Amino acid sequence: MRKHYTVEGDINAKKAKDAYPKLILCENCIGGYVVINEGERTFEPCAKCGADE
Ligand SMILES: [Zn+2]
Repeated sequence: MRKHYTVEGDINAKKAKDAYPKLILCENCIGGYVVINEGERTFEPCAKCGADE
């Protein structure tokens, strides 16, 4: 299952979308990120590993 997440990116970035990018991630990949906010479930593939089932 994937969800939309807002995660901690480059915290020194001047743009909010770089500092806190919004990604679709699966349960396996989310462990590698600091989650700022957890959003809706999605059927879109994981942005990191491409899992889509
Ligand atoms: Zn993944």
